[in-house]
Amino acid sequence: MNQSKQVVVVGAGYAGVMAANRILAARLPGVAVTVINPRADFVERIRLHQFATGSGAATIPLTEVLDPAARIRIDTVERIDARSVLLGDGDVVDFDYLVYAVGSVADRRDHALAHTHTVAVLEDADRLRTRLRELSDGAVVTVVGGGLTGIETAVEIAEQRPTLSVQMISAGPPAAQLPAAGRTAIVRALTRNGVTLREGVRVQRVTEGRVELDDGSGLDSDCTVWAGAFAVPDLARRSGLPVDEAGRLRTDSALVCLDNPTIVGVGDAVAAPDEVAGHVRMSCQAALPLGVHGADTVLALLNGETPTPLSLGFVAQCISLGRRSALVQAVRPDDSPRRFALRGRLAAVVKEQICRYTVKYVRAGSYRGPAGPARVQVADKVAS
Ligand SMILES: Cc1cc2nc3c(=O)[nH]c(=O)nc-3n(C[C@H](O)[C@H](O)[C@H](O)COP(=O)(O)OP(=O)(O)OC[C@H]3O[C@@H](n4cnc5c(N)ncnc54)[C@H](O)[C@@H]3O)c2cc1C
Repeated sequence: MNQSKQVVVVGAGYAGVMAANRILAARLPGVAVTVINPRADFVERIRLHQFATGSGAATIPLTEVLDPAARIRIDTVERIDARSVLLGDGDVVDFDYLVYAVGSVADRRDHALAHTHTVAVLEDADRLRTRLRELSDGAVVTVVGGGLTGIETAVEIAEQRPTLSVQMISAGPPAAQLPAAGRTAIVRALTRNGVTLREGVRVQRVTEGRVELDDGSGLDSDCTVWAGAFAVPDLARRSGLPVDEAGRLRTDSALVCLDNPTIVGVGDAVAAPDEVAGHVRMSCQAALPLGVHGADTVLALLNGETPTPLSLGFVAQCISLGRRSALVQAVRPDDSPRRFALRGRLAAVVKEQICRYTVKYVRAGSYRGPAGPARVQVADKVAS
């Protein structure tokens, strides 16, 4: 390769930093990588519930995680055109290949949730941190959503601020996807930390100081934390790129954007075909191998080679239950639970190590997870 090539990475989260570092680690002559991100820090989103409650930090300067050869541009991409991106400050940056890695955000489409906080992104977690600090003893905090983020957040708040009254509202059993033993461990951890669980009801509306439920009842709430599903930024849709109904960039099995062979998608904001990604949930655990695979696809394209299909397997579901306990549930490559699980203090140590390793992996631009499930199994799962 004798001509210089510009690779632009949009978004410096787990998948984007992984991809940028891995492309640069290949040291292909003439290849420059520019990373565009709205802030100068890498955000460890998996620690945002800790950041919000004051039990841990969640930011590392980008210069400490990115290869020194990466050019960093602090800005937001407003639009992606055929061979260039338009930045918030009006500048245009040209690219030969673009890695789309814009991640996910809180799903704010439901206007009933206007008065809620979230821990989905740094700025939201920071607002919650401020609100929690304002609350005096006895104030009521309501966490809406019994998924993994809701559980981690409720227990963390209760552990760090035992004088607050924390309640959780969950439409179904918390962590419904786990085996019975895991669900029991989670309910015990909630109870041990004084979290009141209200199960089997949905939130209709949140107003200032009040949560209204679909059974006609209502609860006082000085601070309401919405921990529902994530949504994705609408950059791909706005740019006229192919997206699924959720707005995720649609790609082929090698993560190359359908209709645009110069764009490669990685992380939460991407929808690869079911035969390789039907089992993939939005997660840091998936963002790392997606970043690796996206980088390898860009390198193959730069070298004039045919990129290979994604093969991504899960290892575990790791749920922190405060700083002294956790649940690490082993899973099969398709993310379904195995029999083995760790609980308690040992699991908390393992979970902390995993959090540290995610940063080591993105810094190194390298991660080797298990292969994905057999195609036929994924097809079955999707069909069922
Ligand atoms: C509290 C919490 C706990 C979690 N715990 C776990 C866990 O235990 N295990 C697990 O696997 N997952 C966990 N997750 C989920 C995990 O954090 C995400 O799935 C993961 O961060 C996705 O990585 P990503 O690289 O796709 O996106 P992100 O990490 O979200 O990074 C995307 C980056 O793109 C930037 N960006 C967005 N739009 C633009 C734009 N237009 N221009 C430029 N830059 C842009 C964003 O600002 C951000 O820096 C947790 C999430 C939360 C909130």
